[in-house]
Amino acid sequence: MKIAVYPGSFDPITNGHLDIIIRASKLVDKLIVAVVENPTKQPLFTLEERLCMMTEALKCVKNAKTDSFKGLLVNFLKKNKANVIVKGLRAVSDFEFEYQMALMNRQLDKDIETVFLMTSAKYAFLSSSSVREISALGGNVSEFVPKRVEKRLKVKYASMDNLKIKQKIEVD
Ligand code: ADP
Repeated sequence: MKIAVYPGSFDPITNGHLDIIIRASKLVDKLIVAVVENPTKQPLFTLEERLCMMTEALKCVKNAKTDSFKGLLVNFLKKNKANVIVKGLRAVSDFEFEYQMALMNRQLDKDIETVFLMTSAKYAFLSSSSVREISALGGNVSEFVPKRVEKRLKVKYASMDNLKIKQKIEVD
C-alpha cells in the first residue's frame, strides 16, 4: 500500500492546499495530511482548530485523513509506514527551501521520496498568510478558502477586535 504524507501548518487550509490534496490523493492509496503542531511562528488558529478545519475540508476525499505531528517529519512517516512526502510548489521562491528539505529528509531516511506537485495556475499566488492578512483587514476571502474556513476567520478576527476594544477600555 502506497502511503504519502502532506505536511504543512495549514493556518488555515486554503483552496490551494485542497487542490494539492485532491490531486495527490489520486496518486496514492492513502494520504495523511499532517498538521504541524509547532510551527516556528505563533499560529492564528490553534492546533485543534486547524485539525478541525482540515477534517471538515477532507470529507469529500475518501482516502485522505488528518493527523498532527511534532518533531521530525521522517519519524512521523516511519510511524505511519509512509515513504512519500507530498509538497506543493507555487513559485521558484518555494523551490530552494523545499529542495534543501527534500535532500535533508532523504539524508535522514534514504527510503523517503519527496514528490512535488505544481500548483494549479489559479492558486499560484495563494498562501495562508495572504488569506490571514486580507481577512484581518476585512477583505473577502471566499474565493480562496472553503466556506467554513471563511466563517471561522470572520469569527476569529471579530473576537480579536473585541478583545482589543476591551483592553483599550480597561487601559482608558
Ligand atoms: P503556506 O503558509 O505557505 O500556505 P503551508 O506550510 O501551510 O504553507 O503549506 C503546506 C504545503 O502546501 C507546502 O508544500 C506549500 O508549498 C504548499 N502550498 C501552499 N499553498 C499552495 C498553493 N496555493 N498551491 C500549491 N501548493 C501550495
